[in-house]
Amino acid sequence: MFELPVYKIMGFFFLIFIQFFGFNPFLSNICFSLCNCPLIFTFRTVQNLMNWVLFSVAVMAPLMAAEPTVVVVGGGLAGLSASLEIITEGGRVILIEGENNTGGNSAKASSGINGAGTDTQEKLGIHDSPELLVKDTLSAGDDENDKVLVKILAEKSVEAVQFLRNVGVDLTDINLCGGHSVPRTHWIPSPKEGRPIPAGFEIMKRLRTRLNELQEKNPESFRLMTQTKMVGIIREEGKVVGVEVLSAKGEQSKVTGDSVILATGGFSADRSNDSLLSEFGKQTLGFPSTNGAFAKGDGVKIARALGAKLVGMERIQIHPTAFVDPKEPAAGTKFLAAEALRGKGALLINSEGKRFGNELGRRDYTTNRILEHAKPIGEDFQGGSAERNAAIMLMNEATIDAFGRPAFNFYAIVKKFFKKYENSEELAKALNVEYSVIKATLDDYKEIFEGKKEDPFGKKAFPVSAISPHEPIYAAIVVPAIHYTMGGLKIDEHARVIDEQEKPIDGLYAAGEVTGGVHGSNRLGGNSLLECVVFGRVAGRSGLQVATDASRSEL
Ligand SMILES: Cc1cc2nc3c(=O)[nH]c(=O)nc-3n(C[C@H](O)[C@H](O)[C@H](O)COP(=O)(O)OP(=O)(O)OC[C@H]3O[C@@H](n4cnc5c(N)ncnc54)[C@H](O)[C@@H]3O)c2cc1C
Repeated sequence: MFELPVYKIMGFFFLIFIQFFGFNPFLSNICFSLCNCPLIFTFRTVQNLMNWVLFSVAVMAPLMAAEPTVVVVGGGLAGLSASLEIITEGGRVILIEGENNTGGNSAKASSGINGAGTDTQEKLGIHDSPELLVKDTLSAGDDENDKVLVKILAEKSVEAVQFLRNVGVDLTDINLCGGHSVPRTHWIPSPKEGRPIPAGFEIMKRLRTRLNELQEKNPESFRLMTQTKMVGIIREEGKVVGVEVLSAKGEQSKVTGDSVILATGGFSADRSNDSLLSEFGKQTLGFPSTNGAFAKGDGVKIARALGAKLVGMERIQIHPTAFVDPKEPAAGTKFLAAEALRGKGALLINSEGKRFGNELGRRDYTTNRILEHAKPIGEDFQGGSAERNAAIMLMNEATIDAFGRPAFNFYAIVKKFFKKYENSEELAKALNVEYSVIKATLDDYKEIFEGKKEDPFGKKAFPVSAISPHEPIYAAIVVPAIHYTMGGLKIDEHARVIDEQEKPIDGLYAAGEVTGGVHGSNRLGGNSLLECVVFGRVAGRSGLQVATDASRSEL
């Protein structure tokens, strides 16, 4: 009578004990049932029970690794999306990140993520569809895109925006970015005052918070190794089973799992000895970059050495508008002048005071217009452009309000990229051009804005407001900068890395900017964050599936 509850209680603690140490929950439940079976009750002493427990642990120890483990390399949006997907589906993640913290270029993203057919668009009366996003993406990419991947990208875009909203990112404002038929780039509504909330930073913060919460619940589910660089991929008997890493102290070791997902980003800052920019885009080397120094294409190089096929490597996106810092006009790394600025009505003129293109054209179009029609700006005007071809970005109070004061104040007051002029006569003086020229430019645009005449550059959407020559005007110098690498590892619809023989490399997956094919010759704004979420999750599920199969076969 007395022994039964004791055994039951001990059995219960035993169940918690073995699950805590990571045994397969299914097996632990079997064990729990055994603890409750009449056979067990024949044990007469606590010592007998403990012997039985120790025996069970010894027998089950080899099953400790039964939970599938995926090694994810790179803590940007693709890596964190994959990680969250894996853990939510019951797997474990070891996340390798070379920097001090997760974030990558994803944390710098400023214009937002595309979604085609979301409820937010519907509420704002925007008619969109995955088919239209496919059309715009293929048109921007000159049809060089991998059509299978583009279809997945567009069809899962609503789900992707929701995935981020589920972790608490408020994506209820929408931007019109260059090359899009309709506004569909979802971002965070700007607060009226206070600190700006940049979309990428907030997305990365929320995802990390969610992963940390999951880790608190189950410490084994998520292990983050920062300041740890992947330097090689381990393949055994044809299957990828882990990576070789280098710690900040220079110690080399191996991290193994059941599959590996590469999410190491692009190579827009790769000026190393074996530079991919030198190899595939020599013509871009003279441009500054908007990327963090870690964007060196490690994942591309390491997988390439293993036989992975590369696609679209020559397709390197030069973003038309990166701010020139008046304190350091020649700096090689530049702050991006978010596309959302033009999406909310900012205009571009050249040093002669004239518009020279459609501000909302494709990125490559606008870049080429600057290179062809906007000369370098001399030091006398806001410090100049350090001999780079440059445009002047103009905004008024209405367009600033639409973009968001806090974010604009960061550019204007903290970074001092923008300078305020009381009216365009003052601007003309500073620029050393006739006032009549700038006045004509602004008056002309007003007529186009009001639909009184066609834009000579084919601009079809006219956000927010025109700028009056008599109102205060804000000006910043912007130059083209290397921003994004469309090329990378070839993947299939399951995010499997494809080799030179067009076969998947067993156990190796990739997502995000490390891959190529989705964007073709030229990426649309907002499609990269989308790609990271969509294919990060696909890679997560595929990597987990293969890991689960591997764990089962170990059993
Ligand atoms: C300024 C800026 C603004 C942008 N704005 C937008 C936007 O608004 N919308 C949009 O869609 N796209 C935008 N983009 C593009 C987009 O942010 C990136 O392309 C995308 O976030 C890439 O995500 P990722 O996860 O593939 O790589 P990343 O976010 O770059 O993450 C890669 C991670 O891998 C790590 N890593 C690299 N090599 C190794 C290694 N050997 N070992 C371990 N770790 C390694 C890096 O440290 C990094 O943390 C912007 C880009 C920039 C630079």
